[in-house]
Parts: sequence; structure tokens; C-alpha cells
Amino acid sequence: MSQSLRKLRARIATQARHRCGYCQTQEVVSGIPLTLEHIIPKAAGGSDEEWNLWLSCRLCNEEKGVLTEAVDPESGETVALFNPRTQEWKEHFAWSEDGTYITGRTACGRATIVALSLNSELRVRSRAIWVEAGYHPPE
Ligand SMILES: [Zn+2]
Repeated sequence: MSQSLRKLRARIATQARHRCGYCQTQEVVSGIPLTLEHIIPKAAGGSDEEWNLWLSCRLCNEEKGVLTEAVDPESGETVALFNPRTQEWKEHFAWSEDGTYITGRTACGRATIVALSLNSELRVRSRAIWVEAGYHPPE
């Protein structure tokens, strides 16, 4: 990693509070470094500039792939995926009472949950362990 890329990554990690912009997984809890992700994928013309970059976990990054929008399961409407740089996570998502499920508060939130499989069985089981240990959900 070049010096300037390292600095950019460090700056974005601070902005993202070392959490995945989508599922909120904390780097220190998973032990797996978060990746620099393109909010608008490069394949869809997204730039390498800071405004288009955020941190995400590998799972979310893989699931997101080249997607920029998805269907809201409630309204059937196609909407833009959540943008962790310009939108507030708490406006679009919430944690279930037990802290293991992400619920959508908006069409954007619901569509992103489905598109990125934010509540896959393994993720939910993993979060249950983090909750028990007192590391989840992040405040
Ligand atoms: Zn994630």
C-alpha cells in the first residue's frame, strides 16, 4: 500500500469509526481488516476519490458487488442502496431488541438489508456471540 493510500485509508477509517458502513461490524470485534470500498462501484463509473470511498467488511463488499440499487421488499420499489458517507445509518436501520438483526426503517434501508444479506444466518449467529460478550451492537 502506498503512503498516500495508507493515509487515505486511515482518514476514512476514522470517519467510519472502524466499522463497516453497512452492517456496522467493528473491525476490532471481527479481527478482519475492513476494506476500502467504492460506494458507487468502479464498474458503474465510480471514482477513486475520497467522497466515493468508505469502509466495509468483506461480506458486505462481496454482496454489494456492482449493485447501486435494489428492490424494497415492502413497496416493490427499486431504490438506491444506502450510502454510508452521505446518509445516517440510524435513519435507515435499527437493531432488533436483542441486537442480532438489522431492521430497515426506510425503503433504502430495507432494500440494502436484502441486497447485502445483512441478516444472513451466520451473521446473526455471530452477532449473538458478540452481544453476549458485550461488544455489540456498537453504540
Ligand atoms: Zn458489513
